[in-house]
Amino acid sequence: MNLESSVIDCHPASAPDYMAVSELNNLQLQRLRAVTTLAWDHVKLFRGRMDERNIQPKDIRSLEDIAQLPFTTKADLRDTYPFGLFATSMKDVVRLHASSGTTGKPIVVAYTQKDIDVWTSVLVRCFSGCGLHRGDIMQIAYGYGLFTGGLGAHYGAEGLGATVVPTSGGNADRQIMLMKDFGVTAMCCTPTYFLHLIDRAAEMGVDMKELPLRAGVFGAEPWTESMRAHIQKMSNIEAFDIYGLSEIIGPGVGCECRRHQGLHIFEDHFYPEIIDPETGATLPEGCEGELVLTTLSKQAMPMIRYRTRDITRILSGQCECGRTLRRIDRIGRRSDDMLIIRGVNVFPSQVETALLQIKGTLPHYQILLTRNQGLDQMEVRVEVTPQMFNDKIGALQELHRKLQSALDHVLGIRVRVALVEANSIERSEGKAKRVIDRRTA
Ligand SMILES: [Zn+2]
Repeated sequence: MNLESSVIDCHPASAPDYMAVSELNNLQLQRLRAVTTLAWDHVKLFRGRMDERNIQPKDIRSLEDIAQLPFTTKADLRDTYPFGLFATSMKDVVRLHASSGTTGKPIVVAYTQKDIDVWTSVLVRCFSGCGLHRGDIMQIAYGYGLFTGGLGAHYGAEGLGATVVPTSGGNADRQIMLMKDFGVTAMCCTPTYFLHLIDRAAEMGVDMKELPLRAGVFGAEPWTESMRAHIQKMSNIEAFDIYGLSEIIGPGVGCECRRHQGLHIFEDHFYPEIIDPETGATLPEGCEGELVLTTLSKQAMPMIRYRTRDITRILSGQCECGRTLRRIDRIGRRSDDMLIIRGVNVFPSQVETALLQIKGTLPHYQILLTRNQGLDQMEVRVEVTPQMFNDKIGALQELHRKLQSALDHVLGIRVRVALVEANSIERSEGKAKRVIDRRTA
């Protein structure tokens, strides 16, 4: 039987989510061999690394053999800027996206028409898993343009048959007006931006709980379970975590289903592994480590064993929803995000978890790092509710004490806590800027 055509012919679009595991593994192996051959034939950097290891695509005989293949890193994308990792000729490339790149050149990613079709199909599967369908009105408030968020979600929502409202990022008042006037039922944006919309709606006298909005598909930055609880409480929607990265395809590498027990990876297209970030050794299922992804069907720019820097684990056992696709734990941290404060590893998500457990705080915070006489200082600025500021001074002192104790406990180091008024920390249109590092060497 031809697996490729059987998958494509299946209906509905999410049928591959329920494929028998043996069938899925056969398909993965077939595709792994094809993608390795494609990269070996056309990508100089990959061929060179294969030659160094004295291996060829024909040496891939089982899925476990993937561990023999070399890793690809973000540095490889920068070093080969702009088109050095392309495996197809430019005439077959129908789209280019690029990351904003904080320093120097951005990284560039490419798509053939078939890549765009795969991208659309995985997003349709994401949205279906969130219970969305034709008839839903979906507002896409991820940035459109070179960033993959906006256009990725847009094609997926259209592929689903939903009505798409392509607002892109920015202009919160207009976002809220359209959400209300158009009867939007689902919102796609970063969780931070949605928080901003919740606050702004309240200021405008719009009660988000009264709107038809019932779902939010949030991604492009790590966020926590506490943040989900806050968002759901304030807006009365069901909040879903979606995962993706431009290097692999954009949003749609994985997404939660309605059980909210981890994110299903669309592993017929993206093969996940967990490795020890220090040694590069493959870790057994269930162990926490760095997520490594291989694109099994990408044509324009195949990624073999791409190191995502995202820390998670593969959850064992089948999801109650019946999908056979494996799940990863929600990504709370990236190895890139790790701050080293006086020798202790600190992640911004730990701060978020600690502060959201304490009543009277708002989910807006910022970490300020300074260095005083060679010693690192960390200050956590946390917004508190207006009621708190109007309350007796004792209440504020009590809140400060609780926060101090929670943060000391979670982080294992003494930090300075500063309570600030609501709306005093700058809001973000996209990904939140959580850390300001003013340490100089
Ligand atoms: Zn599920």
